[in-house]
Parts: sequence; structure tokens; C-alpha cells
Amino acid sequence: MVSRENNPYRLSTDIAPTNYRLDIIPNLDDALFSGVAIISLDVKVGTNEISFNAIELDLDEITVTDAQGKTQKGHAVYDVDYELASLTLDNKLAVGPATLEVGFRGILNDQLHGFYRSTFVDAEGVKQTIATTQFEATDARRAFPCWDEPSFKATFDVTLNVPSHLAAYSNSPIASETTNPDGTRRVVFSQTMKMSTYLVAFVIGPFEETEPVDVRGTPLRIVVPTGKTHLASFAEEASIFALNFFSTYFDIPYPGDKMDMVAVPDFAFGAMENLGCITYRETALLVDPTTASLAELERVATVVAHELAHMWFGDLVTMEWWEGIWLNEAFATFMEVLCTNAFKPEWKMWVSFGIDRDGALQVDGLHSTRPIEYEVVSPADMRGMFDVLTYEKGGSVLRMLEQYLGADVFRDGIRHYLRKHSYANTVTTDLWDALEEISGLPVRELMNTWILQGGHPLVTLAGGELSQQPFSYAESGAESAIGERWMVPVLTRPLTSEVTSKHLLSETTLRLDTKEPTVLNAGGSGVYRSRYGSKELREISAHINELEELERATLIADGWAALFASQLSWADFWSLVKGLGDHDEPTPWSTIATAIDYANRALRDEQRPVLVNAVRELFGPQFERLGWDARPNETERTPQLRAIVIGTLGTLGEREDIRNEALKRFDANNLDGDLARSILRNVATLNRPGDFETFLDRYQNAKNPQDEIRYLYAFASFNDERIALTTAEKCFSEFRSQDSPFVLASLTTNRVTGPAVWRYLTKRWDEALERFPLNTHARMTSGIQTFVSDRAFANEVISFHRAHPFEGEQRTVEQNLEKLSVGLHFADSLRNQF
Ligand SMILES: [Zn+2]
Repeated sequence: MVSRENNPYRLSTDIAPTNYRLDIIPNLDDALFSGVAIISLDVKVGTNEISFNAIELDLDEITVTDAQGKTQKGHAVYDVDYELASLTLDNKLAVGPATLEVGFRGILNDQLHGFYRSTFVDAEGVKQTIATTQFEATDARRAFPCWDEPSFKATFDVTLNVPSHLAAYSNSPIASETTNPDGTRRVVFSQTMKMSTYLVAFVIGPFEETEPVDVRGTPLRIVVPTGKTHLASFAEEASIFALNFFSTYFDIPYPGDKMDMVAVPDFAFGAMENLGCITYRETALLVDPTTASLAELERVATVVAHELAHMWFGDLVTMEWWEGIWLNEAFATFMEVLCTNAFKPEWKMWVSFGIDRDGALQVDGLHSTRPIEYEVVSPADMRGMFDVLTYEKGGSVLRMLEQYLGADVFRDGIRHYLRKHSYANTVTTDLWDALEEISGLPVRELMNTWILQGGHPLVTLAGGELSQQPFSYAESGAESAIGERWMVPVLTRPLTSEVTSKHLLSETTLRLDTKEPTVLNAGGSGVYRSRYGSKELREISAHINELEELERATLIADGWAALFASQLSWADFWSLVKGLGDHDEPTPWSTIATAIDYANRALRDEQRPVLVNAVRELFGPQFERLGWDARPNETERTPQLRAIVIGTLGTLGEREDIRNEALKRFDANNLDGDLARSILRNVATLNRPGDFETFLDRYQNAKNPQDEIRYLYAFASFNDERIALTTAEKCFSEFRSQDSPFVLASLTTNRVTGPAVWRYLTKRWDEALERFPLNTHARMTSGIQTFVSDRAFANEVISFHRAHPFEGEQRTVEQNLEKLSVGLHFADSLRNQF
């Protein structure tokens, strides 16, 4: 372990800031800024050395004044590698308060981190400029000199001097506004609560707000680029619900003074939990509920809930150092589902979260997985933590724990933890200790087996016995991050009853005292793969339609995992899925569609007709039942199933009637809601002359952010190399840098044109890394795992990525490469079965 003392990236605790007065002048035209920071310090150990974080900043002469009013001056020495500035004073600073004052200048960069600038064209065709911030994890130091570690909490008094026609926002309400002699507006914000630097925000630009709504004393507004307030109503409704929900759940009032939710036109992440000034990419906040799909509405509701949960868990109580970021994100992921499930019970969020969990387990079953928590030394180390293992696996493990402890006990433990550590910092085990105190169960020991080793178990129920072994997709190579044994909270129930039994499977085997057919992973919240003995599987398969929705979805997902791992035959998988009845719950069907897509990539051309027929046989009856248009009294989730069925039948099932109707609706520009993406996918696959140009035109003139993104991702479905390469080129010239890496990733997943796009991308590799936000680089490679049909090409891909490793996120690339090699093996095996 690298301790604070011998980690060169970390600051001494001899001096700590207590307050920052920041007076900042952004110059949007020239992409520059300047400012003055007056930082109140608490000197705990007398010293003449002061070190703090600063990078890409020019610092003026620094003035340090001690408690007696004695002033010393000096110049900072920069250490670029460790992003530090240090100052040596002639005379030692005595223990007690002191003040540091320094002027600074920097660049409003275009990298979507630190203090950055972006331009966009508004609805009237006018070019607009904004300046905004994204500081997590370690980029506040690019905007002002600071003690940029989460444990150095302080209060902030922010002043922004902005062009008079632009709006300005920060973490707290505006205390006063005056006009400067040069005509700019001086906006002074009131003092914040004590908080970490990574949560500070400044936003300046042509924005307007919705009328404030009072939520238990907190004024809440949605802040949008001018002219977009008509897209804010759903976010407002979701925010009001979530702010109320969390105030009750945590039993602590919202800790800030106001809440602005800001839609930013260029944003590298999904959203950022700056206290009182949460920033979002537009698709995560602005939506037209009359034309959106369920998934698009879910996205807004869950992201809003996620960020608001952070106001307590993250902002009020904060990790001591970045290895704790996983808990912050895992918890917010858990809470986003819990809150949205209460907001819209008909959406059945815990069932659809099964898909997200499965996505994480698909990575976690690889030998190149990682423990959820690992040692973080440098900023590059922590970039690797913002992945599915942190968010989705972490959130799933918390859900499993909640279900094992009981919802009320879990909530009481969380309340205890938040109250005990308010305005302070914690390590992961503080939460386990709080939950252990309230529950009396061995939470720390249990969770350590899930957090400190990678992978997850395969739990088998056979002959009345439970057993565990590590799950993996393939034999281990030289090294594996998959652990050996877990303390597995296993819930079971008799097939005929809803009464669940709780077991803690901590050894290799555990005897169950039951003779009845038993459901393993009852309720479906366990973070493991399940396997039944052959007798047990026959019993469960015969009753698959009586399982709860998440149990059924999990059974199918575990079947697909076993098939992909070449542990189950295609015939056995297919007989399992053919037993699915007429339920409108889409989750298992989404897994089946994924399996079919992989099979389509794996098979040789002459084998494909067999698959086409299988798809028609399985999905056809569902389509005859559901049709194209909503029926009276169908569930909220039925349109999603319809979209999966139509999307799959028209493309992989090659059904003429579906294709013709899709073209008709596309030509009439009648495509909203859940069906929109399926229609576009069908149309693009057909490659009609002129359609690409229509897609492009509709993308450029999109009515709302969802419409825009639908077309952007649908470009990838054209099976035409010229179109694919034209689209790839636009990622470097026309599309926003926040979207381009994701568009490139989706272009590489096209079975026909993906390899050409990948080769194109590798030719412009350095340019891509320069152009796209740092946190999106590894995402750009997510499509390579689908190159399972051509081993020689796959080897070319592997060699390239091994020769061009990323600094912080290479593990994600390695996971994509390992998934590719598992996929190649799956493809070989499948070709022999058809
Ligand atoms: Zn988060």
C-alpha cells in the first residue's frame, strides 16, 4: 500500500484550507480566464513550505499573511508531473490561521474538463459560446490553485465577472449583482457549505431557467440553453420527486441552499453532482415526454435521481481518497433505481436493472476484470474506476446486500452512517461498520469478499445442495483477477410459494433441507450466475412462466452466459427460450436478441438461413400478438417488447412485411417513442439510395436531444462502407466531441462495415486521442469485442491495441480484447453446432 506520506501525488496535511474567496474573469471570446484566490489556511504544523495543486495555470507572485498580519511574498515552483505548485517562505509560518493570496491566469480549454469553453449553434442558427466546469476527479486545479483532494473540505465564496448578456451560476444562490466599470456584470454568490473542490462549479452562457419550485424550502430550477424550457417539464417533475424522496429516505434535509439542474450543450460525462449546481449532458435532462421512448424517459429520471442522491452520499459525506469513488458511484446507482422505482412503479426498474447488472457481469466473468475497490495512487489510476464494475456491479452488490439485510435495516444503517459523517470524509469500511451496528450481521466480512476480489461465483443447486465455484467464460491464462470464494447471500424459495429463505453460502457447499422444486436466486437480486442440476433444471424450465419477472430474466441471462462460455449448447439455450410465454416483460427478450446478434456474427453465410428461420419462429408469434400499434390497456413496458420484436424480425429475421412498414413510417416521418430506433435500424439496413442523406438532414434539424441521438446512432446500421466511412469522418469534423467516440464505437459494431471503420480510426488514432475527452478514449474501443467472425482480423486488432495502450483505462481495452477472444471461441463452437 502506498500511504499518504509516500504518495508523491498527495499533499501534506500540515496545512489545510478552510475557505476560498475566488474572483474570476472569464474571457469567452479569447478562450482565456484570470482570477484572484484568497485562501484561508489552518496551519497545523509550523512550516515554511506550502504545496498545493495547480496545472496549466500561470500564478502571479504569492502573498502569505500570518495571524499577526505579517506578510511574506514568493513565487511558486511548478512540478508538472505531480500537478503541484510549491512555495518556500523565508520565515516559518506559525501554527494557527494564515491567508494565501494569488492571482492566476489560464486557458478555457476545449477538452471538456477543468474550466472549458464550447460553442454551439442555437435554434435560430446563431453561434453561441459557453464557459463551464467539470472538476471531478482532479481538474479543479486547472481552474484555480487549490488543495484538490476530497478530504480538504472548505467553504467557497465565488464571484464571477461575466459579459452582461450572459447568465452565470455556481453552487450557491446569487448574493449580489453589480456592474463593473468595463460593463461586465459582477455576480457574487453566497458562501457554500463545507465541501470538496471537485464539487465546485461555474457555468456562464446564454441560459434561462424555469420558475423556481419550492421543495421543502429548497428552490429548484431547471436551467437550459435559451429557448429550450419546453423540454424541461419532465426533469422538473422527476427532480421534485427525487428531492422529496431522498429527504425522507435519508431523514436529513438537503444540505445545500438551492438546486439548479443545468443542461450543458457539450459535456463529457452523463452528469456531474456539483453541490446545488448539477450539470448534465442535454439527453440526460431535456426530453419531450410526448415523443420519447420509455428508455429515454428512464434515462432522465435515473440520472436526475442519481445526481440528487449524491447531494447526501458524496457531497455531504465524501470519500477520503479516490479509491472510495466506487462506493460513491455504486451507491448513487443503487439509489437511482430505488428512487425511480418509487417514482414510476409501472416501469419496474429493478427488472430492467437486471440488464445493466448483466452487462457488468459480462465484464466481471473475464480474467481481466478487477476488484471493485483497488489502490489509487495517481489521477490516471482513478480514471479506470469509472466503469461498469464501479457503477453497475457495485450498485448490484449493494442491492443484494439490501435484500439480504432487509430494506428497513439497510436504510437505517445508511441514515446512521450519513449522520455520523456529515461534512466529513469516510473510508469504505465506515459504511460496513454502520450497517453492521444496525443489523448485527457480519457485513464487513461479507462485503470484503465482493469488494476486494474480482469476479463472482457460479452457484449450483443440485441434489438438494448449494455449492459455489468462480464463474469464468474461459480457462484461466497466466493471470486472473477472478477470486476464489465469496460469502454469498443466497435467497431461495419453493416454486409454489413466495416465502423466501435466506442462506449465507460462505463455504464451498451448503445443504438445503428441502425436497420441493426450488427457485435459486429467488427475487433475482443475487450477483452470481445460477446453475441447476439436470433434474432441477427440468422442473424450473417446465414452470418458467410462473417465475417472477426478474427471476425469469435472470434465468435467461445466465443461460446466455453459459452459452457464450461454451458450457451450454445452442439447442439447450434455444429450448429454454422457446418455453417463454406471452409475457409483455421485455427484459429476457432483450437478452435473446443479443444472443441472436452474436450468433449472426459467428455463423458462416451458408449457415445463416437456419438462424433467420429460427428468429422468425421465435419472434413471429410475438409480433402477431403485439402488432405495430399500441393496444388498449397494455403495460408501460409492452412498447419496449414490441420494439425489440420489430427490430429483430425486420433485420435478422429479414421479414419483408416488417421492412415495408418500417419504410412507410420512415417516409412519412412518423417515428416516435419506443419504435423509433427499431424503424431506423430496419431502414438503414436496407440501404435505399438517398436515405443516408435524409438521416443526416433529420439529425441536423432534430426537434429534441433524443431525436438527434437516435439518428446519430442509427448511422451505424447502414451496411455500406462508403456511408460508414463518411460517418466516421464526420466524427472528426462535424459531430460534437462528447458524442463522436460513442458514434465510432457503434460504427465498429456493424458486422459488414465495422472492420473498415476500425482501420480508419486507427489511421487517425493520435488525432482521436487529441480531439475526444480523456474519459471517452476507452469507450471508443467497446465495439472491438464484436469482431468474432474473422480470426486474422481479430489478431490485427489485438496487436494494434497492445501496441497503443492507454495510460489509465487500458484495463477496459484489455477486457474488450478478452471478450473478443472468448467470442472467437464461441463462434468456432457455434459454427460446429449449426
Ligand atoms: Zn455519480
